[in-house]
Amino acid sequence: MNAKGKILVVDDERGMREGCRRILVPEGYAVDMAADGEEAIRRLREDGYDMMLLDLKMPGIGGMDVIEPARKADPDLSIIVMTGYATLESAVEATKRGIYDYIAKPFAPDELLPVVTRGMETRRLMVESRRLREERDRNLLELAAEKSRIHTVVNCMADGALVINREGQLVLYNPAAAHLLRLSASPPLEAPIAEALPCPALVGWLEESQGETEFRRVSRELSVGEGPEATVLMVNIAPVRDEAGLFLGSVAILRDITRLKEIDRMKSQFVSMVSHELRSPLAAVEGYLDVLLSGLIAHDPERARRMMHRARERTDSLLHLVDDLLQVSRMESGRIRRNLAPVALGDLAKEAVLFFEEEAQKKEVRLTAEIPESLPAVLADKDEITRLLTNLISNAIKYNRPGGSVTARLSQEASFLRLDMEDTGLGIAEEDLPRLFTEFHRIKRPETLQVTGTGLGLSIVKRIVDAHHGRLEVRSRLNEGSVFSVFLPL
Ligand code: ADP
Repeated sequence: MNAKGKILVVDDERGMREGCRRILVPEGYAVDMAADGEEAIRRLREDGYDMMLLDLKMPGIGGMDVIEPARKADPDLSIIVMTGYATLESAVEATKRGIYDYIAKPFAPDELLPVVTRGMETRRLMVESRRLREERDRNLLELAAEKSRIHTVVNCMADGALVINREGQLVLYNPAAAHLLRLSASPPLEAPIAEALPCPALVGWLEESQGETEFRRVSRELSVGEGPEATVLMVNIAPVRDEAGLFLGSVAILRDITRLKEIDRMKSQFVSMVSHELRSPLAAVEGYLDVLLSGLIAHDPERARRMMHRARERTDSLLHLVDDLLQVSRMESGRIRRNLAPVALGDLAKEAVLFFEEEAQKKEVRLTAEIPESLPAVLADKDEITRLLTNLISNAIKYNRPGGSVTARLSQEASFLRLDMEDTGLGIAEEDLPRLFTEFHRIKRPETLQVTGTGLGLSIVKRIVDAHHGRLEVRSRLNEGSVFSVFLPL
């Protein structure tokens, strides 16, 4: 059974100690006794009590000297001093030191009990109020920690966050928001948003959200900047309400979706490219097959052979397209395994030039190679270097004019092997250069309408050069020609 409280009776008179014990135990208190100050201090430190009944006049360490160590051991200990009339002054002094009450000796049980009951009640209240105080302190501490945690999280977010209050003032924003909105200076807090944010569209949406009566999240796209530096942000705005549903303000989360938009654009471009590039050769092949099957030219085997030849060319170009697509997808997924070995670039260039000789003649383009003897070998993947050469020579011939020329030139430059693919063809306008190496990007010009292609060749070249830690440069003048230079580290 739990005692009503634990009491230490400290008195040098045995009769007094016993008397107290006999009064208190039947009332449900647990009672220990100490015969002098030293024992009292030891017990208080070791055991812990709710209350101490203390005689002030004891030999050795007097009661007055017990009070301070007792307070140290337990600041909420309820101390009741038992004193004779002669030491009333001391009782007053003890009260100043923080004892709770005193009782004059000798006393009857019904005099002691109410004092003890009151003392115990006070003790209970003091312990409770200390507990509440500590809890409050702890809560405040947690609150402060929580606040700084939220602050840290908001500041580290890659998404931008803006918070405005119901007066339409900017009350919080994180560095990502400032960066995404390209704010040159930190916007002042608690200024009206129209002043704080130099972005009328966003301000408009935020103001709209202020008037909302129901919870409605708004998603909008916001363009920031112009030209090649332009970005697109997805802005999500939501009203904030407290538990009672009272409108507090709005939160806007900003996310950079430029890359997603670009992928989206590339995807539609891809679909239209594929449908066009696949459809036209297939339709042509189908046409040839129809003619052959109809038997209309059965009497003219030479014409039939020419038709089959053309059909063959178209399927070749289809295969080429599919090859390019596979190559890009392999490179994209990192599934490609490179066999790096010393490669004699001169030999590969000569082979490639030889391979395109017929094609060049057909286009009336002069194709030559300038390859010095004894060039050092580069550590590279032979198949990829062949593909790089093929793509560059094929472009130089494709985007050329009758009577033009293509020169494949090799040289050593410091610790690089340099390949220049020079043509006197159509050239590329300055504004088309930045996107030249982007997948599926084809330059639309009347002269190139008949030229088939996937827009993948140069992007593959770029990836191969990057994979070999090399460098790719292009110099071009519209209608005069281009030079594509590849630098591969030796
Ligand atoms: P494709 O040739 O399949 O269209 P590429 O990625 O090889 O794709 O080339 C992208 C675009 O760059 C071409 O559509 C063409 O307009 C331009 N281009 C590439 N090489 C040359 C060149 N040597 N001269 C002029 N334009 C070129």
